Amino acid sequence: MTSLSERPLTCHACDAEIVGEPAGHGLMLFVRGDEVLREEPPLCERCALAISMTALDRIFFEEEEG
Ligand SMILES: [Zn+2]
Repeated sequence: MTSLSERPLTCHACDAEIVGEPAGHGLMLFVRGDEVLREEPPLCERCALAISMTALDRIFFEEEEG
């Protein structure tokens, strides 16, 4: 059996290996009964940027449709 104590950090979105510090974090909320669990999976630079752009897109879209 191999030890996985030093697992490389990988991007949550594209599974690319992250060297150094993650560029950003996603945000996931889970509701379990009365408890809210919060997870912030690491993202590589490209995905952190893409996700923040997507979030901005969504805001503009909603404004246009309303
Ligand atoms: Zn990525």
